[in-house]
Amino acid sequence: MAIKITDECINCGACEPECPNNAIYDAGAAWRFSDGTNLKGMINFPTGEVMDAGEVQPAISDEVYYIVSDKCTECVGFHDEPQCAAVCPVDCCVDNEDVRETEEELLAKKAWLHVE
Ligand code: SF4
Ligand code: SF4
Repeated sequence: MAIKITDECINCGACEPECPNNAIYDAGAAWRFSDGTNLKGMINFPTGEVMDAGEVQPAISDEVYYIVSDKCTECVGFHDEPQCAAVCPVDCCVDNEDVRETEEELLAKKAWLHVE
């Protein structure tokens, strides 16, 4: 599964620089697939959807920091544990029960985000 940030977040910002995939954004901030990844140009999804990696996407939360599930790999391929959860002072980076992925799928996502 990916990790999500609950509304217990105190907006301290400690997690954002720790994410190897640039999957964490400040409340109200727009996000892009291309931020902090090697994705560029038109990208293809398994669903058949096609999207511009640089397209500005609306903020997922206007209240607290948020995680883009499609960019979160649970830190697989980079670290032994989710770095956001490791540094969060209020333990509000938790499993996202709506996004379940296997280790193989997470590794594939990491490779996709950081394709050479
Ligand atoms: S678990 Fe890792 S990849 Fe996912 S948001 Fe947290 S720091 Fe980023
Ligand atoms: S470290 Fe925790 S409290 Fe601080 S911004 Fe990230 S999720 Fe929110």
